[in-house]
Amino acid sequence: MDYDIVVIGGGPAGLSFACSMFNQNIKLLLVERSSVESISDPQQDGREIALTHQSRKILYGLGVWSLIDEDEVSLLKEAKVYSGSSDSLLDFDAKKSSIEALGYLVPNYLIRKALYERVLQAKNVDIVTGVSVEDVNTSNSGAEVALSDGKTVKTRLVVAADSRFSEIRRKMGIPSLMKDFSKVMIATRMEHEKGHNHVALECFNYGHTLALLPLNGNVSSVILTVSTEDAKEILSLSKTKFNEMATEGFEQKLGQMKQIGERHSYPLVGVYAQKFRATRFALVGDAAVGMHPVTAHGFNLGLKGQDLLSLAVKRALDNGLDIGSDEVLRDYERKHINFSRLMYFGTNGIVALFTNDTSAVKQIRKLVLKFANRFPPVKALITQQLTESKKSNLIPF
Ligand SMILES: Cc1cc2nc3c(=O)[nH]c(=O)nc-3n(C[C@H](O)[C@H](O)[C@H](O)COP(=O)(O)OP(=O)(O)OC[C@H]3O[C@@H](n4cnc5c(N)ncnc54)[C@H](O)[C@@H]3O)c2cc1C
Repeated sequence: MDYDIVVIGGGPAGLSFACSMFNQNIKLLLVERSSVESISDPQQDGREIALTHQSRKILYGLGVWSLIDEDEVSLLKEAKVYSGSSDSLLDFDAKKSSIEALGYLVPNYLIRKALYERVLQAKNVDIVTGVSVEDVNTSNSGAEVALSDGKTVKTRLVVAADSRFSEIRRKMGIPSLMKDFSKVMIATRMEHEKGHNHVALECFNYGHTLALLPLNGNVSSVILTVSTEDAKEILSLSKTKFNEMATEGFEQKLGQMKQIGERHSYPLVGVYAQKFRATRFALVGDAAVGMHPVTAHGFNLGLKGQDLLSLAVKRALDNGLDIGSDEVLRDYERKHINFSRLMYFGTNGIVALFTNDTSAVKQIRKLVLKFANRFPPVKALITQQLTESKKSNLIPF
């Protein structure tokens, strides 16, 4: 074999898995189709990733957390959910659980930069950039990965982290459930007059959703979810108009708001692969589970999934077993399905409940929020998930 493992895709999930294999007794090749600059020096992309305590722990264990500038990490201390013009109907507060924060907000480009920096320190990992994987052929005895530069790499295990629209997943014959929400998420950084006290807001207004993630200083990430047809108009609004829209959207709670970052847009499509493995082949990251961002769980799940796969691979290495065997991959798949299924379908349920504006559904969602807020076990489970999850998998933001 040329390499023991080939990872397809140098996004956050692929890089995390490569970090998990840091200085193991195996050779790993990571293939990324975009340029070296795009992964060594990624640019701001408008995504502020809300990391759970568990994700922070995984990143810490990978030696990645210490490579992120701590001044860029913002504490998420409280989260409030609103429906229409009602007062906050659901409120999660770190203070009530005697913890520092519900979660940690870190700009996506800094996570990617730190992951890449860490991978470069691994002696057993090679990276090729500007080359894509064109095809994968696997059998019980081994796998071959065809690259766009004409080379073929022989390996024992192929790990695909090539995005929610994974071409390799399709080529390997793995079907997936896809949900096109016909919505676009627009994210940008804004400055505001008043402090946010590190409280995140999610306002399910009628026709669109407005969210605010508190960053350090009087700065927040503002995220607007709108229909595809409205997105073009909002993206082309002047800064003055956009500022007015945000200021009024948050009912002046933060005073005058001013856009200070670029506006980035993301079409919303959810994906759940029907299998996470095939012969000598595993899916991780969005290629396995591509979440709607409303519960802010995409990368958290990607990190957990790659962690589960790396533990299965390390166990096989310790016991002298074949790292690409069905037994190893079945173990990963079973655990990751258990961890992700409720989260994925639960999130889609939340989206359905909160974006349907018929009056009956509006009433139901108010009742659901009030019930969740007044029924301590529900809140406790959600807070547990954010902070050091035990049972529940659903979190707001
Ligand atoms: C607006 C927004 C907000 C979000 N907020 C949060 C949040 O708060 N918390 C959270 O946990 N998650 C959040 N997410 C989700 C998170 O950003 C994603 O889950 C994560 O980026 C997925 O990483 P990935 O590596 O699986 O895929 P990607 O980032 O899509 O990377 C895939 C990589 O594979 C490469 N590639 C593709 N095909 C090939 C090929 N054939 N050969 C070689 N390379 C290939 C691509 O070039 C790319 O670099 C958010 C997402 C959005 C859109």
